[in-house]
Amino acid sequence: MTKVLLLFLLLSPYLMSDGHIFVYHRFDDTRYPTTNISTKELRKEFNYLKKNGYQVVPLIDIVKKINKNEEVPSKWVAFSIDDGFKSFYTHGLSVFKEYNYPFTIFIAVKYTEKKYKDYVSWKQLKTIAKYGSVEFHSYGHGHFGQMSEKEIKVDMDKGLSLMKKHLNYEPNLFVYPYGEYDDRVTKIIEPYGFKAVFNQNIGAIHGGTCTDGNDIDRSAVVGSNAHDFKLYLKFQELCGVNFQQPIVYPKDKIVKTVEVTLDDKTIQSADIFISNNGWTKVKVSNGKILWNANKKIKLNRIKIGVKVKSKIKLMVLSK
Ligand SMILES: [Zn+2]
Repeated sequence: MTKVLLLFLLLSPYLMSDGHIFVYHRFDDTRYPTTNISTKELRKEFNYLKKNGYQVVPLIDIVKKINKNEEVPSKWVAFSIDDGFKSFYTHGLSVFKEYNYPFTIFIAVKYTEKKYKDYVSWKQLKTIAKYGSVEFHSYGHGHFGQMSEKEIKVDMDKGLSLMKKHLNYEPNLFVYPYGEYDDRVTKIIEPYGFKAVFNQNIGAIHGGTCTDGNDIDRSAVVGSNAHDFKLYLKFQELCGVNFQQPIVYPKDKIVKTVEVTLDDKTIQSADIFISNNGWTKVKVSNGKILWNANKKIKLNRIKIGVKVKSKIKLMVLSK
C-alpha cells in the first residue's frame, strides 16, 4: 500500500505539510524486519530533519496544541517508540541523545514486569526517562477489540499501577495495542482521562478543530525507507472526515459500501483508497460519499482512506 500511496502522492505537485508524529519499534534488530529500523537509517532521517529546518518537539507539545484547538506548526515532528523493546535502550537511545531529540516511549508493562528477554527493564526505563518520557501502551498488549470491558479495565488498571509503583509516574498518554480500537474501546478508555490517545494510522496532524485528541495519527517507518519518511512529512490532514461504512473488518473480505461524510459541503470529488485495490475517484454530493465499492481485500489489517486535493485521512480495520 505504501507504494501505491507513494506513486499517487508523487503526482501531486503542491503538497504542504502539517505536524507529524512517527513511531518506531525496534532498532538494529534484523530478526524482525517489519518492525525494525537500522540506526544508520535513523541517522539519515534525523539528518534530513536537521537539514530542512524541522523542529523535533516532545510529543506532549503537540498534544497541548491539539487540546487547545491550536494549529500544529508544520515543521514540528515528534517521535514515539512503542512496546519497550530492549533494542531501543541498546541501540536507538544513543542516536536520539546524539541529536538531542526528545522522544516518548510507550511501554507494554507486562513485558518489562515479567522481564521478557527482548524488553527494557524498569531500571533501564529510569535511565531512558532522563532523556525522554515513558508513557502507557497497556499491560498485556492484547487485542482490545476482542476483549470484554472488564478484561480491558483489569489490564489497564494493572499496567497503570505497576507504572506508578516502579516509576512513580501516572501516564498522560496512551497508545492502543496494535492501534486497534472502535467506539466501544474508546468509551472504555475515556474515563482514564489521558491527555491524548494515539493510533497507528499513517497521517499528519493539523490541530485546530481538525484533529481529535483521542485519535491521533502516527506514521510508522520501517526498513530502509527514508523515502517513506520524507513522503509522510508531506502529508496534510484532511479535516472533517467521518467514516461511516465500513467500521468493522468485513468478515467475508469484501468491502461492499464505502460511506464517508465530509464537513466541507462544497467538495465534489474525492479519491478513496482501499488496501489491495489502490485509489478510486468517487463523486461527493452535499458532503457525502456513498460508493458501492465491492472490493476484495486480502490483508488481515486494511486501510481505507479518503483524499481531497492533497489532503489525506486514513483509517485501519483489523480482523
Ligand atoms: Zn505495540
